[in-house]
Amino acid sequence: MTQSHATNLGVRDDMTKSVRISREGRIDLSSDDERYRSLLTSIYDGVLITDRDGIIEDANPRSCEFLLFESSELIGMNVLDMISGADEKMFARVLIYLEEHRFALLSAECVRNDGSKFSAEIAVSRMASSPEGRLCFFVRDITVRKQAEKVMAEALDRLKKQDKARQQLVSNVSHELRTPLTSMTYGITNMLKGAAGEFSDKAHEYLERFDRECKRLLATVDDVLDLTKIEGSTFKMMKVRVPLTRLVARSVGSLELHAEHKGVTLSVDAAMFPAERPDGVPARSGFVMCDVVQLERAVLNIVGNAVKYTPAGGCIQVGVAGDPQQYGKLLVSVEDTGHGIPAEALASVTDRFYRVGERADGSGLGLAITREIVDRHAGVMTIESPPPGKEQGTLVTIALDAADAPRILVVDDSKEARGVVETYLGFHGYDVVSEGYVGGALALVREGGIDLAIVDIMLPGMDGVQMIVAMRGSENTEHVPVVVITGADVDAAKQEILRSFSIPILMKPLKQDHLLDAVESALASRRTLDK
Ligand code: ATP
Ligand code: MG
Repeated sequence: MTQSHATNLGVRDDMTKSVRISREGRIDLSSDDERYRSLLTSIYDGVLITDRDGIIEDANPRSCEFLLFESSELIGMNVLDMISGADEKMFARVLIYLEEHRFALLSAECVRNDGSKFSAEIAVSRMASSPEGRLCFFVRDITVRKQAEKVMAEALDRLKKQDKARQQLVSNVSHELRTPLTSMTYGITNMLKGAAGEFSDKAHEYLERFDRECKRLLATVDDVLDLTKIEGSTFKMMKVRVPLTRLVARSVGSLELHAEHKGVTLSVDAAMFPAERPDGVPARSGFVMCDVVQLERAVLNIVGNAVKYTPAGGCIQVGVAGDPQQYGKLLVSVEDTGHGIPAEALASVTDRFYRVGERADGSGLGLAITREIVDRHAGVMTIESPPPGKEQGTLVTIALDAADAPRILVVDDSKEARGVVETYLGFHGYDVVSEGYVGGALALVREGGIDLAIVDIMLPGMDGVQMIVAMRGSENTEHVPVVVITGADVDAAKQEILRSFSIPILMKPLKQDHLLDAVESALASRRTLDK
């Protein structure tokens, strides 16, 4: 900057040459003016100093570089002319803002002398040493950063598209494989049954091997398809509240024969809910809000592994309990006495296609699917091998949030019948209220908070069907699912009404499992859709 510009600058009018003695005693010959100038020159950002109206009084070399002006040209121009889209109103807003704040930050495009523009970040502040209200504009060219952001966003977009294409490809290939594999399995099974005549023992042996391999491949293809569905955004979970113990028992039940066949003991140890923790605080409930099919599959994979990787004579203990460390959490634990997972493999067993050693009996997808499902339920899966305090085996634990127990209303005039239902449901932790008369029952349903009504047909006064019609006729109660229980045959007219409302009928004497199944599926009819 030339001297003539420098004299334009009011800020520096009172600057005097001075000789200073620093603390260390050295003589500092520089003047305030020189220091000011060298500071402005060394600053990375463009600096524009303006009067209170935005008229530029001084500009450092960097701002000249950015804006393609000589500093002599810049001085006297309005700073608003350098900022695309800026006007008096915006300037006034900045001034008001600066009354309460030290800096105003603007993200804007700056206009160069040749009309081109660049992205900039501008920090505006009042100059502390200027009673005239001068302003200081620090202009930073962020073109490179903006370009990098754009490149990143484009790369991310490309990756997303590629990932979608990959998922689509995997899904298409799997579908293509599924059809011929299914027909091969079907053909081989028929041949093994003798549909194509007799075979030699050797041919039979080959066919059995083909059968095993085809089925294994089919299972892998199904797993790949499921995994693509689960990880894809199209996968929707249908969540319902279910007693975790029953869900786990179902998964375990389907593996009992397999375990028995292998000579492995498989048992379930389930806590009663609402259960007391050792410190006397009850667990919230034994219910989880989950996609039943998916969660059952997760448990099945873990217990299936325990059965697969535990040699004959070993045992597997499945547990369902409230988490003693954390109120409101439920734990499903599967502990086996099998050969365990080597420490170096522990972190990888939930990776896709990861198997320890070269075992041919699995595709290495089970735990990857399980982890996805558990994640989708906001749960946590931990794998310990050997289990704490043990010398061998594996312990897999899933921690899930407990949900409120569903509140069920039982309407029956027989105290004994009510007692049976209360016991069956109470055992699984349902919150049960009961009523002997329709009047009281309807009042309870209207109050709200009832998740399901179990209604007997033969009741004194208004009967069960009339109660259901009344419930379905009112906006407040029409959505409450109902299960009917009856000791006598229901006449055709009433049956027709119940069918029209899709209400299931259970005959007395009640079987515990039938009741629990009916309750679960009736509650599921009000399931919620979740991503
Ligand atoms: P699949 O897809 O049929 O389930 P897989 O059982 O091999 O095949 P994962 O269930 O994902 O696949 O398990 C990954 C690997 O972790 C297994 O190959 C096995 O080596 C090891 N593993 C899992 N559970 C246990 C267990 N309980 N005991 C010992 N090893 C286990
Ligand atoms: Mg497995």
